[in-house]
Amino acid sequence: MRRLSLWENFVHFRRVNVTRKVLTLDRGSQSKRSRLKSALATSSQQQTTTSDSSSDYLKAQRVNGQFRLPWGASRLPSSLEALKWFWCSPNNSSLPHGGLADFFQYNYKLLDHTLPIIKPSLQTFESPPHDSLQVTWMGHATVLVQMDGLNILTDPVLNEYCGMAHMVGVKRYRPSPCTVNELPVIDAVCISHNHYDHLDYGSVCDLNERFGDKIHWFIPMGLRSWMKECGCKNVIELEWWDEQLHPKCTDKSVKFVFTPAQHWCRRGLNDVNQVLWGSWTIIGAKHRFFFAGDSGYCQIFKQIGKRYGPFDLAAIPIGAYEPRYVHKTFVTRG
Ligand SMILES: [Zn+2]
Repeated sequence: MRRLSLWENFVHFRRVNVTRKVLTLDRGSQSKRSRLKSALATSSQQQTTTSDSSSDYLKAQRVNGQFRLPWGASRLPSSLEALKWFWCSPNNSSLPHGGLADFFQYNYKLLDHTLPIIKPSLQTFESPPHDSLQVTWMGHATVLVQMDGLNILTDPVLNEYCGMAHMVGVKRYRPSPCTVNELPVIDAVCISHNHYDHLDYGSVCDLNERFGDKIHWFIPMGLRSWMKECGCKNVIELEWWDEQLHPKCTDKSVKFVFTPAQHWCRRGLNDVNQVLWGSWTIIGAKHRFFFAGDSGYCQIFKQIGKRYGPFDLAAIPIGAYEPRYVHKTFVTRG
């Protein structure tokens, strides 16, 4: 992401939508799992001297109603930097690009070739394998993970537009491969933070309307009132490193942990960092899944990998932006 204003979120959605990668690993492949653990652990190996002490697992600071990163690194790009980036940065993607005209009208024929939509079958949704993970990427940060008897959805954005109101935000490059009505019963939704490209009012309301009490909403601290306005029940609000078992699993076999991320929050004109941000670590009896949300590289990756890894599956954002300095603090870059 690369701008300070509300446009920042919209642009982030538009540019990153096609570049987010989902890495899947076979549970049985210890070498692959080790590599993923190593990747998470060594992303900032040279910057950290963390130990196993619980005092090293810091929570976000809260000052005058705003959350802050406890390790600093909280400077956002200036408006001038953001403007310069927006108008002057090159577009190195292979997607159709024609300046402002393409902002409202994409070359769908080319998009169908570059990034085809694969519609998942209902039968596949309804019969996930018992002994492995099943993952469906729905664009950007929306991922359906079926593991250890639960259907888990991350940052659900299933609408055509992303923004403050329908038809006001930026239209996504590619439609979601399925609608809320085509999803299997969702047991848990994990929200990483409140940027519009990760938290969509319409999608949350639609999910709540269809599944109601069946969903347990795992959310960052400060977001409860927003969720209540959507009518959501079973809202579980956590701070960094807080852990919560999923109530559906009577054997207490699946644990949700709200883990840190190096990012920030904003949804309106005057609410910067009033809601916490983070990543999600989900530990089941058989499988482990890490959802990074949005985050720049930092020592946290090593801590999470050390405490909860190795992981069978990780969904990690790859920021599609240049130049690197503009947003490298808050979004990883491939
Ligand atoms: Zn974000």
